[in-house]
Amino acid sequence: MKTETAKFVEALRARCREVREDEPLRRHVSFRIGGPADVLVIPRTLDEARAAAGYLFSERIPFIVLGAGSNVLISDAGIRGVVVKLGKGLDHVAYDGDAVVAQAGAGLPHLARDAANRGLSGLEFAGGIPASVGGAVVMNAGAHGHAMQDVVHRVRVITPEGERILDGAALGYQYRTSVLQTRPTVVVEATLRLVRSDPETVRARTDAWLRHRGETQPIGPPSSGCVFRNPSADHAGRLIDLAGGKGLQLGGARVSELHANYILNGGDANAADVVGLMHKVSVLVMEKFGVRLEPEIKFLGEFPAQSTP
Ligand SMILES: Cc1cc2nc3c(=O)[nH]c(=O)nc-3n(C[C@H](O)[C@H](O)[C@H](O)COP(=O)(O)OP(=O)(O)OC[C@H]3O[C@@H](n4cnc5c(N)ncnc54)[C@H](O)[C@@H]3O)c2cc1C
Repeated sequence: MKTETAKFVEALRARCREVREDEPLRRHVSFRIGGPADVLVIPRTLDEARAAAGYLFSERIPFIVLGAGSNVLISDAGIRGVVVKLGKGLDHVAYDGDAVVAQAGAGLPHLARDAANRGLSGLEFAGGIPASVGGAVVMNAGAHGHAMQDVVHRVRVITPEGERILDGAALGYQYRTSVLQTRPTVVVEATLRLVRSDPETVRARTDAWLRHRGETQPIGPPSSGCVFRNPSADHAGRLIDLAGGKGLQLGGARVSELHANYILNGGDANAADVVGLMHKVSVLVMEKFGVRLEPEIKFLGEFPAQSTP
């Protein structure tokens, strides 16, 4: 196994300047939790992303893609195998009329602010979502009644069959999901269609929603945002609050007092604490309302069988 790993690490290094071994993933995720990846590949250009993903697909080496790491829980044991992280370097943004072409590693909040300053409307909802463009496209990130599906025109992806351009309409968008979550795909670029408007108006809406988030959601402590999906026509946070979940604690993990669908890392939380706390909260909600909460965050790496909620 070791020689095999050494062989493909060498091949990856020939294609991509930044390849780290035994890299702690907590440094790469907003929760600040998680063990090491055997191999972390960080393409800094589109060509490096193409070469690395192309090689991994052609050699049938499984890998996990990471964007800004703001919707994941990495296991304490980390990830055996390869993780490809798309961020800095792969973050070029170009404007063409009311369209914006953004590479997957571009930061969504920065893009939303930049678009607002240019008087382009459509991304006001995204000012406080700490995603990469790629992660937001895959997750159909959204807030305030809007989501990525409203603006995604097309995406450039790398698949085992090669590079493709997919129309937004073909992405099977639904609440916080897309077909991109069901196939081995690396999103490397997205074209978003925005609407020309008055910069003052777009900025004011972006700021108002940011202020609202600041008052209703904990922004300081490390977290992965909302841990559960909202059940249809309801809010997971409301149910958790009414079931008595606010402030519950397990190890270093705590349910936020401000927004009950947030679990916060008090500093020394590990993945087992978060999973255990999610389990406790689900049981409370099931007992009180008969509603089964589904996780929104993605569990990456190995978790003991049946341990995830
Ligand atoms: C404080 C806070 C507030 C948040 N608020 C919101 C909110 O209001 N609305 C909302 O929807 N979400 C919210 N989130 C969650 C998170 O920001 C979104 O889900 C976001 O879309 C995740 O993007 P990411 O780049 O961080 O993806 P990651 O967390 O890195 O990855 C998420 C998933 O997408 C996959 N993925 C990532 N990038 C790619 C790519 N380029 N190609 C293929 N697959 C990829 C990963 O494998 C993983 O399965 C919040 C999170 C935090 C920490």
